[in-house]
Amino acid sequence: MGGKNRAALSLAEKPVTCLKGVGPKKAERLARLGIRSVQDVLFHLPVRYQDRTRVVPLGSLRAGDEAVCEGVIDHVEIRFGRRRSLLVHLSDSSGRIILRFFHFSATQKNALSRGARLRCFGTVRNGPACLELVHPEYRLVREEDGQEEEATLTPVYPTTEGMHQLSWREITGRALELLGQDDSGLEELIPQALAERHSLGDLASALRYLHRPSADAPRSLLQQGRHPAQRRLVFEELVARQLSLRAARRSLRQLRAPVLYGAGELRRALIAALPFELTAAQQRVVKEIAADLEKPLPMLRLVQGDVGSGKTVVAALAALQALEAGWQVALMAPTELLAEQHLRSFRDWLEPLRLPVGWLSSRVKGRARSSLLEALATGEVPIVVGTQALFQEEVAYHRMGLVVVDEQHRFGVHQRLALRDKGAGQGEVPHQLIMTATPIPRSLAMTAYADLDLSVIDELPPGRTPVQTVVVSDSRREEVIERVRAACARGRQAYWVCTLIEESESLQCQAAEETARQLAGSLEGLEVGLVHGRLHSAEKEQVMAAFKAGDIDLLVATTVIEVGVDVPNASLMIIENPERLGLSQLHQLRGRVGRGATESHCVLMYHPPLGEHSRVRLAVMRETTDGFLISQKDLELRGPGEILGTRQTGEMQFRVADLLRDQYLLEEAREAADWLLRQAPEKVRPLIDRWLGADTRYVQV
Ligand code: ADP
Ligand code: MG
Repeated sequence: MGGKNRAALSLAEKPVTCLKGVGPKKAERLARLGIRSVQDVLFHLPVRYQDRTRVVPLGSLRAGDEAVCEGVIDHVEIRFGRRRSLLVHLSDSSGRIILRFFHFSATQKNALSRGARLRCFGTVRNGPACLELVHPEYRLVREEDGQEEEATLTPVYPTTEGMHQLSWREITGRALELLGQDDSGLEELIPQALAERHSLGDLASALRYLHRPSADAPRSLLQQGRHPAQRRLVFEELVARQLSLRAARRSLRQLRAPVLYGAGELRRALIAALPFELTAAQQRVVKEIAADLEKPLPMLRLVQGDVGSGKTVVAALAALQALEAGWQVALMAPTELLAEQHLRSFRDWLEPLRLPVGWLSSRVKGRARSSLLEALATGEVPIVVGTQALFQEEVAYHRMGLVVVDEQHRFGVHQRLALRDKGAGQGEVPHQLIMTATPIPRSLAMTAYADLDLSVIDELPPGRTPVQTVVVSDSRREEVIERVRAACARGRQAYWVCTLIEESESLQCQAAEETARQLAGSLEGLEVGLVHGRLHSAEKEQVMAAFKAGDIDLLVATTVIEVGVDVPNASLMIIENPERLGLSQLHQLRGRVGRGATESHCVLMYHPPLGEHSRVRLAVMRETTDGFLISQKDLELRGPGEILGTRQTGEMQFRVADLLRDQYLLEEAREAADWLLRQAPEKVRPLIDRWLGADTRYVQV
């Protein structure tokens, strides 16, 4: 392929400008949707279909139908209500309907005279008097014109500014012609044997069908994305995705990593000093990690554990293993607050073992910074905690053996691979341990993170009582404040979480300041603290330390405390406007309480009226504290991009698959990927290229 002869080009290589009617301007618009080749056009599937294949008698129309209908104009009038509108009364032998226009010209009105015959297309709705079509497409017809219905269902494409549905139909029509001329322009990459195993049809037929389904096609099946033709395409894409992640994984495993073998004396010392016993789940995961670290291959392991399951100590034990072996460790967290929290835990645990713990964030500047960088480069500081600043170019390590990343779902594959470049030296790369509290379902995890091994901490430390959650309207604010007073009077501590429009951190902080002032006013005698993202880390640290020490009774906070913060004596949390947050975020927040042995409570104080969606979400929070269940619900309500935190990075964007809708295919797609790797390895690269295109840069490194 790739010859100079145009005819020999595959559709993947033919630019959209090959299609008649696509000039530079349209090509640019298409590029905005990531459509560059003729093949991309073919993979741009309709979101839905209209049935213009038959004319529906007026008497059989129902509200909600999208249909073609035809009738004779009985009467035309202009109504002057709140909005001026043109009403056209239409009837046929079976019934009648009104066409309603809010915008119309005099010419338009004049053309619509009594007795004229109109053919219309639009969505039927209930009007004040009878069924109506608002701003339908229409044209005048003569009875003798004869049938002009469409032969296939009419596709409706996802679009971008400046691209009309008619253009889409034209462009996809031309692309289908090219496909028709020469099926070989789009190579069939699923071998016959595999297609039979999974009951898949061929690619070209699936595409032809989906762009122009026959008049009798099962529309509801198509609407649900469950038609065999859709399944064929989704399947191939999921397989390609699997293959690409496997390739990433393989390319990583070709590298070497230091063998982190230690005698275990530091680990034993830490375990002996802990005020608790590790849970069985923690012990199992610690073992899984330890075995990986002793291998000369880079570990890439994801530790999934619900909020409060005790991931930090597991990370600390892994770190100690690296230190025992004489290597350095870096622990990275997504926010400064969370990183600081880890710093405190690590200092508490490691300094008694005479291990200095370094600290690096973008706010560490001047002398402190340069001396830390120096100490990292010489290896004098064996372990460092911080934010993404840890992986800036200027930071060099002496012997980096292990990188721990907390709350990984906020980092993408790219960042993960960037860490790798902070090589251990001599052609070796560090091991990576990734921790997340987002308990995504296993099948999804295997797709999102097929390049990672998975360990699950599926047990909470003993003695925790599940948090009791109530949902109340903010009209009961006074009662809630009383509740805080009563809890604090019994020696308990509480959080008061303010949520606001997420985009504006400064507004959020202002609101929290205002709330703290008011609460301090109503709760005389209680110490009210405040923490938000705008405080300097020293101030935040001071407030958190005071809260932890019990000097602050009520801590007013923004959602910065979402992850990681740990104060076992805090047993009450008020969340204002919880309806603004996603389920997973609420779960994380609520996880800040219920960490001690006393019964904890969470009050979700919403601002009425509550939409249907919010009502469902808050009910889920009230009914369960099971992170997996909550995340499954969240997945259903918001979609995987939000849950995996990949929406912003675009990493999990699919062309035709929808992880939620197509979850049922994931397992089969994995099997198919295995089969291809064994039986038809020559198809692997073409499949990845076809579906992930330019995005696969990172797996080739
Ligand atoms: P997360 O998994 O949410 O990061 P942490 O590591 O912050 O949880 O642990 C939550 C709290 O539980 C901490 O106070 C930690 O010291 C404590 N903890 C961890 N493991 C155990 C255990 N096995 N038994 C009792 N408490 C534990
Ligand atoms: Mg944590």
